[in-house]
Amino acid sequence: MKERFIIIEQLLREEAQLQRVAYKVMTASTHLCPKTRGALGFTLANKFSFGSEYASAMEQLYFTDGLTVSSIVLDSPAVRAGLRAGDAILTFNGQKLGSGKDSLDHARTVIDQRVQNTAVELQIQRNGTLYDITFELETACNYPVVLTNKGIINAFTDGAAISIDTGMMRFIDGDDELAIIIGHEVAHNIMGHIPKKFANFALGGVIDLALFLTTGFQSTAFGQMSAQLLHSQGFELEADYIGLYLTALAGYEINNAAQLWRRMGVFHPQFVTPKTWSTHPSSPERFAQLESTIAEIIQKRNAGAVLIPEGIK
Ligand SMILES: [Zn+2]
Repeated sequence: MKERFIIIEQLLREEAQLQRVAYKVMTASTHLCPKTRGALGFTLANKFSFGSEYASAMEQLYFTDGLTVSSIVLDSPAVRAGLRAGDAILTFNGQKLGSGKDSLDHARTVIDQRVQNTAVELQIQRNGTLYDITFELETACNYPVVLTNKGIINAFTDGAAISIDTGMMRFIDGDDELAIIIGHEVAHNIMGHIPKKFANFALGGVIDLALFLTTGFQSTAFGQMSAQLLHSQGFELEADYIGLYLTALAGYEINNAAQLWRRMGVFHPQFVTPKTWSTHPSSPERFAQLESTIAEIIQKRNAGAVLIPEGIK
């Protein structure tokens, strides 16, 4: 049981870090994103979110059959309105969220329907007392980011939702490197690199809720086909270039980008082969471009110029 608590706490920490950095990236680049929506700034989980075998350990923390705030972005309207991790959410804009194994799916549908308008009204329960909390959502790029738990150094996007695995969370060093990874995946989406007909395959329709999925994605024919597509068309270079702008726009340090990809190639060469979706090849061309992009952005920043990728309207 003790081991389970350690794993749950680690996953909750990683989820909080992921959502904190994703929130900054998604809210800083709305002018470049074709689709935007209100960013919740918090994730929800119930006692089943890490799988049934963790349910009793989850219950001994503060999770129940219903939905509880599992992570929250500190610098967000939700926090400023008084919402805290551990609060039970009973209603979202007047709609009951329910309980049980399917409650996350149900909540996702409710929130998707009701988040169009950026005003949010929650009824929550804390220490047995009910509270109403209202706030206005910030606008963000409409690319939900989810944490997967396969323990592999992987990140991918299906064109809509972005998945970052726990293995990647443990490999990156701090928020700056995580922002570089997220920026890269957002760039794939902004540039429409992932064909629309693929978009429903893996994670379509996911929103900013705590989801811990194992999709087996990279081993599918779709995953391999997509990896080939990215490389054959130079999409990786484009995602690197625009991704670094997104990272910088969110206020993160980009100096380490080339070194990050290099480290990924050195320590985990299996993840830089054309077999996986994450495939981030360590080619000399790629490093040269990363270095020149870093120089370009720093030069613009020092000159006080607006950070807009060249060739993007
Ligand atoms: Zn990529």
